[in-house]
Amino acid sequence: MSDHQSSSFNRRAFLEKSAKTITAGAAIQALSAFSFAAATTACGSSSASTNPASTTPPQPIPRQSMPRPIDWPANIGASKQVVILGAGIAGMTAAFEMKKLGFSCTILEATSRAGGRVRTIRNGDQIIETDSTQSCVFDDSPELYFNAGAARIPHHHELLLGYCRQFDVAIEPFINENKSSLFHSASAFNNQPKIARQVVSDSQGYIGELLASAINQGALDNDLSTTEKNNLLGLLQQFADLDSNFSYQGSSRAGFPGQENIGSRQRGANITPIPRGELLQSEFWQFKLDFFKDLNQQAAMLQPVGGMDAIPKAFEARLTNEIIYDAVVTQIRKTGSGENAGVAISYQDVTGNQLSVAADFCICTIPAPVLKDIANDFSAAHQSEIANFTYSRAGKLAFQSERFWETNHNIYGGISWTDQDITQIWYPSAGLGQSQGILLGAYTFGIVQGDRFSAQTPSARIASGITQASAIHSNFSSQVTNGISISWPKIPFQLGGWGNSQASVLLTEDNNIFFAGEHLSILQGWQEGAILSAYSAVDLVVAKLQ
Ligand SMILES: Cc1cc2nc3c(=O)[nH]c(=O)nc-3n(C[C@H](O)[C@H](O)[C@H](O)COP(=O)(O)OP(=O)(O)OC[C@H]3O[C@@H](n4cnc5c(N)ncnc54)[C@H](O)[C@@H]3O)c2cc1C
Repeated sequence: MSDHQSSSFNRRAFLEKSAKTITAGAAIQALSAFSFAAATTACGSSSASTNPASTTPPQPIPRQSMPRPIDWPANIGASKQVVILGAGIAGMTAAFEMKKLGFSCTILEATSRAGGRVRTIRNGDQIIETDSTQSCVFDDSPELYFNAGAARIPHHHELLLGYCRQFDVAIEPFINENKSSLFHSASAFNNQPKIARQVVSDSQGYIGELLASAINQGALDNDLSTTEKNNLLGLLQQFADLDSNFSYQGSSRAGFPGQENIGSRQRGANITPIPRGELLQSEFWQFKLDFFKDLNQQAAMLQPVGGMDAIPKAFEARLTNEIIYDAVVTQIRKTGSGENAGVAISYQDVTGNQLSVAADFCICTIPAPVLKDIANDFSAAHQSEIANFTYSRAGKLAFQSERFWETNHNIYGGISWTDQDITQIWYPSAGLGQSQGILLGAYTFGIVQGDRFSAQTPSARIASGITQASAIHSNFSSQVTNGISISWPKIPFQLGGWGNSQASVLLTEDNNIFFAGEHLSILQGWQEGAILSAYSAVDLVVAKLQ
């Protein structure tokens, strides 16, 4: 059996058993087994601290059981109509793939653009929140853009990258980790930022030195053979840059004295290591030192050239006849029964007219905080899960600036961390070496920080963002300009960052209504998750027709 046949067999066996006569409980169990119910780390969060699902190790997706377009029979959708709610990545993926299967697709999108949480802000754009409107006054230049939602793509998000390839969306490296970036904590190192390379080097140094000492004192004799001890000592010497006595005396990896920011023109004695006690006292590991080890944060990371919205724009260009813009869904109703079961969706157009679309099937990708207030005929179990679905409070603040981080600090891309509300500063990977750039001055996603950020007016976010960032870059206030922010919980038709509840009932159909969206995937908070969720929903529709 070929790989493909075996994959089809497994999936089909699952679908045949479950899809036609499925009960909610059985389906949840079955879908969980196929890994669509458990979340790993979302795009902003570190698995170590901010994600409620963080204690669960990432679960591998069993590749052979993932629904894939290649498995769906050609023309299975002929003479069938599907109405898709929302033109984000999930909705557009579903439409793009279902169109190929012969379905007649209509997408109802509340706003005048496709992409949802994939949104790139440039000169002249507006950010409208529930209680404010901002206009972007960045200079008009190709690299001066702000990815207000999705901003980076892990190299193993192969479905999303597959669409980039298929649609000719040019991609380039996104620099996520940078040893020249800074760690800052108001309660450590006298409130002074430390360069990542020094904290990393010194912490590895001390860990290696202590472990080598334990080995050399015989503390691990019961655990290791003589050969293993020798090999481990060799490993530690390289891991920690220990000297011939297995002592850590600093390392060139940490930079050179007086040149921490500016490289290594004068090589000499190593920079004096941060004393071990001070390092431990600082609780440096809270500075997200290990963030970039998460599977979804590892190099290589990628981004579309010119802004993340190149991806939704590419989908959009292939769905010009399917998407109805400015169509705010107001009611989701079930019609008929048995063989005649269908859906009727009411929506309001931009002039306030009430219109409706009837179809055989509905795929609903509307985010749960919005969906819970739309009149519907969902089952009580579906309604309850929608009402209780929680979302992150993600917010971002961007500035235009001369690239002082490149010219003064040799920082090209990457992220600095602080324990203040702004949480992160992102240095742009686009336009390296040019004069101006867009600096992300805050990326908040924790509940407390996110709520505080959200509660501020846009100008208060700018003021407090500048104050906090000045603890990391003392010249910040004199450099940055044209600040603009977004708080996703206040964006109409989104009302949240990304889902972080565990989905179960919503993974099942509700008569002829199916649900999709990043929140219903194993990769919550990622575009790849939105695609996976769309595949899952389409798969259930296809199974129903077989
Ligand atoms: C701050 C932030 C950072 C992120 N960073 C990354 C990242 O670096 N990499 C990554 O891959 N992903 C990232 N993500 C996640 C990614 O953006 C999402 O997972 C993905 O875009 C979600 O797609 P979706 O189709 O499920 O939902 P959405 O994009 O939310 O699409 C839903 C659509 O439904 C529409 N809608 C809502 N209500 C109605 C209604 N009543 N009637 C009609 N239409 C309606 C909305 O307008 C929207 O277009 C980030 C998200 C956020 C918020």
